[in-house]
Amino acid sequence: MPTPSRRASIQTTRGVWLVLLSVALVTAGFASTLAPEARAEPDGHFQERKSAHFRLYQDVDIEKYSGPHGWRRFELQLLDILERAYDRVGNLLGIWPGHHVRVSVYDPGVFDAKYQGYFGFRAVGFFDGAIHVRGATRVDAALAGTLNHEYTHAAIQAEVGPGLFPAWLNEGLAEYVEAQAMGRRLGPGQYRVLTEASRQGTWLPLESLAGPSFAHLSGDSASLAYLESHGMIEYLARRHGEQKLRWLCQELARTRNLDRALDRTYHRSLAELESELRAELR
Ligand SMILES: [Zn+2]
Repeated sequence: MPTPSRRASIQTTRGVWLVLLSVALVTAGFASTLAPEARAEPDGHFQERKSAHFRLYQDVDIEKYSGPHGWRRFELQLLDILERAYDRVGNLLGIWPGHHVRVSVYDPGVFDAKYQGYFGFRAVGFFDGAIHVRGATRVDAALAGTLNHEYTHAAIQAEVGPGLFPAWLNEGLAEYVEAQAMGRRLGPGQYRVLTEASRQGTWLPLESLAGPSFAHLSGDSASLAYLESHGMIEYLARRHGEQKLRWLCQELARTRNLDRALDRTYHRSLAELESELRAELR
């Protein structure tokens, strides 16, 4: 069964916290609820275009914004971003899906009308076996980030199937790839939020974020869950090297046991790694 995954990203702009919750969550129940529309075939309003690894459908009314042939440039830019995401995730995690990944980019109004009701926070994309993204009137950094994020979920699912990667790992890797694509890391403001959560007792134990998605979390908790997940992956990359992220994915795919994969990769349990991260936050 397809597993929709949601994403939330937290971005800072000019020092002001801007919580942009993009979502992609997945539970079996969510999948079945969303399935009829999420799996809709191109309905005649979609344009289809293929690249080496993607099959793109988009229905943004782009001509309204960029002239009669703007859609062609728009689609080529989208596919260029996706192909770069393919290389980025492949180089980072060693995952190279062997089939075309389907990507639907919706006109923002159409996406909101069809899907916002499914999410407790503002969604800009989700993955349910195919990538669904709220489009924009041009290919900007936020849209590129969303495509990278959702592609990470697509690649992981293509490699190991749905449900094996706990949400904190799946979302943390997606957030990490998205940040890489946008040329940024977690900033001081985001670390301040993590530090306060750790000190004030509102920290969400990663063990509690090990389900298939963050769909059950409310807005604030979802924000923190995504931030902690991103923080954990950034910590692992910084302290133990990016190469071990790849080893972790390989071990998890091979053993299908997270505790064993963490032990073989880091010689530590999840609780021990989480304690190390939180010790840094003091
Ligand atoms: Zn996500």
